[in-house]
Amino acid sequence: MSDPFRNLGALYQKVQVHSDRVMDTYAGKFKCRKGCSDCCSSDRSVSAVEYANVARVLAELPEKKLARLKSQPRSKKRCSMLLDGNCAVYEARPLICRGHGLPLVLERSKGRQMVDVCPLNFTDGSLATVPREDLLAQGTVDSILVAVNALYCQEEGGDPRKRRQVAELLE
Ligand code: SF4
Repeated sequence: MSDPFRNLGALYQKVQVHSDRVMDTYAGKFKCRKGCSDCCSSDRSVSAVEYANVARVLAELPEKKLARLKSQPRSKKRCSMLLDGNCAVYEARPLICRGHGLPLVLERSKGRQMVDVCPLNFTDGSLATVPREDLLAQGTVDSILVAVNALYCQEEGGDPRKRRQVAELLE
């Protein structure tokens, strides 16, 4: 039987390769570091394939860690998957989290695009000089995720339009 998460894994891998290359190329411009969770300021809403993937990794957590995650108070200002300042489901973190800190090109209305980055990074004003190939095209990766999710729902069952909060997995 084929791995239901194979396409999601391939997409994550592509984003990881891009991320590693950009972080390496612009090493001095990033303040991103282990323990910084400024981007994790709210719960994430995800499609079926990412929800199931987070569920899979949560199920593999040591019992005590899962119990601590479930028992910590919820906050509207913090993702429920954060534990001691780290993502408890890091290997399964959703696509949106994988762009944290990277220079992004975002689709806006009427076909407009904007370039954005975490305000802690590229503080020397050099964001405008970053070439197109070093920007993560958020609209493109989101479109690929829509296709990956549709295929997952076709194979595994589920509504491809439905989104859920990952925090529901802790209930
Ligand atoms: S899922 Fe993990 S990386 Fe994403 S916002 Fe929550 S804690 Fe942060």
